[in-house]
Amino acid sequence: MFSKEKITVAYTLEKCEKCGMQKKRKFSEGDVLFAEISKCPSCDGMTVIDKIFGETIEQ
Ligand SMILES: [Zn+2]
Repeated sequence: MFSKEKITVAYTLEKCEKCGMQKKRKFSEGDVLFAEISKCPSCDGMTVIDKIFGETIEQ
């Protein structure tokens, strides 16, 4: 089988509201938009989920 299949992978974009640091990672179950995730590694702000989006990949 050599047919190309397109799959959509969901990603979550975390953003620190204080310093603007952004981190993209794979979406995981339970991620909700604007939910607070963790403390920012580079300041004392909180990182929140800024965006949840899908990317289509050909494989
Ligand atoms: Zn920060």
